[in-house]
Amino acid sequence: MDVRPFWLAGSPATGEDELTVTNPHDGRVVGVASVPDPGQVEQAVAAAHAVRKQAAALPIHVRAEALAHISRRLAERAEETARLISAENGKPIFWARGEVGRAVSTFRFAAEETRRFSGDVQRLDTEPAAAGRLAYVSRQPYGPVLAVTPFNFPLNLVAHKVAPAIAVGAPVIVKPAPATPLSALLLGEIIAETGLPEGMFSVLPVPNERAGALVDDPRLPVVSFTGSGPVGYAIKDRVPRKHVTLELGGNAAAVVLADADLDWAASRVALFSNYQAGQSCIAVQRVIVEEPVAEAFTAKLVAAVEGLVVGDPADDKTQVGPLVSVEAAERVEQWVAEAVAAGATVLTGGTRDGATVAPTVLTGVPRDAKVVSEEVFGPVMVLQPVASVDEAFAVANDSRFGLQAGVFTSSLETAFRAGKELEVGGVIIGDVPSYRADQMPYGGVKESGIGREGLRSAMEDYTYEKVMVLTGL
Ligand code: NAD
Repeated sequence: MDVRPFWLAGSPATGEDELTVTNPHDGRVVGVASVPDPGQVEQAVAAAHAVRKQAAALPIHVRAEALAHISRRLAERAEETARLISAENGKPIFWARGEVGRAVSTFRFAAEETRRFSGDVQRLDTEPAAAGRLAYVSRQPYGPVLAVTPFNFPLNLVAHKVAPAIAVGAPVIVKPAPATPLSALLLGEIIAETGLPEGMFSVLPVPNERAGALVDDPRLPVVSFTGSGPVGYAIKDRVPRKHVTLELGGNAAAVVLADADLDWAASRVALFSNYQAGQSCIAVQRVIVEEPVAEAFTAKLVAAVEGLVVGDPADDKTQVGPLVSVEAAERVEQWVAEAVAAGATVLTGGTRDGATVAPTVLTGVPRDAKVVSEEVFGPVMVLQPVASVDEAFAVANDSRFGLQAGVFTSSLETAFRAGKELEVGGVIIGDVPSYRADQMPYGGVKESGIGREGLRSAMEDYTYEKVMVLTGL
């Protein structure tokens, strides 16, 4: 099997070590990625540092054209890219195609947003002392961005960091997840076609135990991390003086109130508890339902869950595939067993076949069971009946996480209340917490992270405001 080169300062390169990537569905080898040696990592960092001023000075039209090119080429190579994502991650091809479509639009939005990101002029003569003065406020990149990404959206979460970096003129080094480096390497091929200056981007699939050297390197002042809390907070603690963004996990709640459209709510909750086999930071995990409709809703929900097509991720009809590994599936199975031992009832699912866990609905789960209080990151949801809207919001907020929440209601008043009271970064009215448009601000409160992504927010995050005052006007 061919070995995929990594991207060192914009060019393909190979190192001495290799990383074999397997399909979690059947264990077959999907590809082999070359792993950079420490000396090559040093070259990539030195090149990013060396090019930083040239990158910041790149004309907007050059950045915009590069981003538009990436968007177009990803669209042209969409099916091949989706097949690769599906194979390395185990994600059903239906969802993998969606992921590519999102990355295509992320780069397209970035090409547009970079044109709008040219600063602001402020008249200062609002005060007599500043008469005749004008401030030009521009945004300057801090410098090279280290982008550390997880396995669950191996292309799109890389796009969320690379697109804003190019848009603001910041070099970027991607450290993809070891389980799923191939999609990021394919994206590297496309970025290399743009003719951006040497050193503007590298994709370095280094093993976790060597990633700390990148995190520590003072020549990379920005660390944009998406992944689990323990790793994210360890990075933040390690480099407290760096500009660190953390996009972490959650145990997202969908709140189904008595005035909701139950058919719509059941179909959405069923699908988005189980999409990506539950391996999304905003997959529905806790389903909080008002008691008057709990019985009717549960019947519809269980029927919808049982109607999901579980199977081979390469099959067009499959909605739920395997988890990223057998070990991940065994952990989820163990957490379900612990909940059952603590008194929970399995309404459907609860079984495992290799890396695949059957879509599972639990009820009667104690609040301190891991499937409630931790991030399950598998196709498991817990039903939590409540007596009132007050209780629904209190239960939703009873979490150390706070990424997004979904609220199904037909009352505008309740919708606004939810917007005010739910302690999360995003409240989705009329749909599941899993909704995300890549141009909107996205991120968490509490232990779900620090900072925001979404194109504009990430561009702001990678830059600082710089003021130039003109005198004597
Ligand atoms: P992870 O934390 O294990 O790994 C994330 C990345 O960190 C990988 O690239 C990994 O190789 C790297 N890493 C691991 N140890 C490191 C170290 N010591 N130094 C530097 N880098 C290191 O996460 P994962 O299992 O790949 O992804 C799942 C997690 O990601 C879940 O918790 C999920 O909720 C979270 N996530 C969050 C968002 C979001 O936007 N909030 C999106 C997707 C996933």
